[in-house]
Amino acid sequence: MKKVIFIFSVFLLPHLLFSQSTKKVLFIGIDGCREDALRVANTPNLDQLKSNGIYSPDALNDDITISGPGWSALLCGVWSEKHLVTNNDFSNNNYETYLSILKYINEADPDFHTVSICHWNPINDEIIQDDADFKLNVDTDAELSTQASNYISVNDPDFVFLHFDDVDIVGHSYGFSPFVPEYISVIEETDNLIGPVIQAVEQRASFAEEDWLIIISTDHGGRGTSHGGNSIQEENIFIIVSGNNIPNKVIRKDSSVIVDNPFNCLESATELRFDGENDYVQIPPNPLFNFGVDQDFTIECRVRTTESADVAIIGNKDWNSGGNPGFVFSFKFPSGPEWKVNIGDGMVQTEQI
Ligand SMILES: [Zn+2]
Repeated sequence: MKKVIFIFSVFLLPHLLFSQSTKKVLFIGIDGCREDALRVANTPNLDQLKSNGIYSPDALNDDITISGPGWSALLCGVWSEKHLVTNNDFSNNNYETYLSILKYINEADPDFHTVSICHWNPINDEIIQDDADFKLNVDTDAELSTQASNYISVNDPDFVFLHFDDVDIVGHSYGFSPFVPEYISVIEETDNLIGPVIQAVEQRASFAEEDWLIIISTDHGGRGTSHGGNSIQEENIFIIVSGNNIPNKVIRKDSSVIVDNPFNCLESATELRFDGENDYVQIPPNPLFNFGVDQDFTIECRVRTTESADVAIIGNKDWNSGGNPGFVFSFKFPSGPEWKVNIGDGMVQTEQI
């Protein structure tokens, strides 16, 4: 008998409690936040959410890396070839076919209370339109944090979307890069403003009976002081899906490996990922590669870089200046996948593209 009671209390009681809990969603958007910069920044609140759910550093958003298409994709669940927003002019949108998540929720049950508070007004004005029960445009991220915290404390929302914009604004001023201190600082400030919002959720009187799913993501990255192209720095986004009933794991590109030793990429992987420390690839001898003296052949090497410069593929020179003595085969920034050859003698340089 004791055993039966034990089983009931350990397994069934929590299940009953969970099944009675009210499911709620908080979706926080951080505009223009690069994952490699987020990794460098000190973000205790986001770290806490990451550690209580699923995190992916390798997600990709729409290949048109502009906020209109990017937020449309995140809120409507399809990319621009379906929602038809290809820039920040929303006039050709197809939101009637591909509804925003807020419209889906309201159509499923009009009693669900939906909220959207945004720093970048076009999200509310163009994408969400009349589909939030409470909609507010704010002028600063600080105001967003205060308004959202108050609203979540006082009211009973079921779905809340919040849009923070300062990271993108600072990226445009100083650069979207993990090496730009201002960009790292603004990510840390944003984390600091997200803290009170999470606290407001956790301090709700009915929190124990609620099951909150907290999603954090971004619409695009950036390169230099802009975005809009289809480099990996611009397309790569992160996503956090956090909650007490979410399994704890990190999702990475499964074709990526990091090696510091010779590695035959032809045998066991389709893509290599280098960490910048003593990495190289060596293909073992193979009779197939003995081309003979009268056979034409091509050797192809594809490299995708995370650096925004003419990255060296092979060379013997200090590539900080093209005039430095030596040679280099490098990417041709920003028009890759083309490459070029530079030769310098310390005074004069010549380039073949
Ligand atoms: Zn921007």
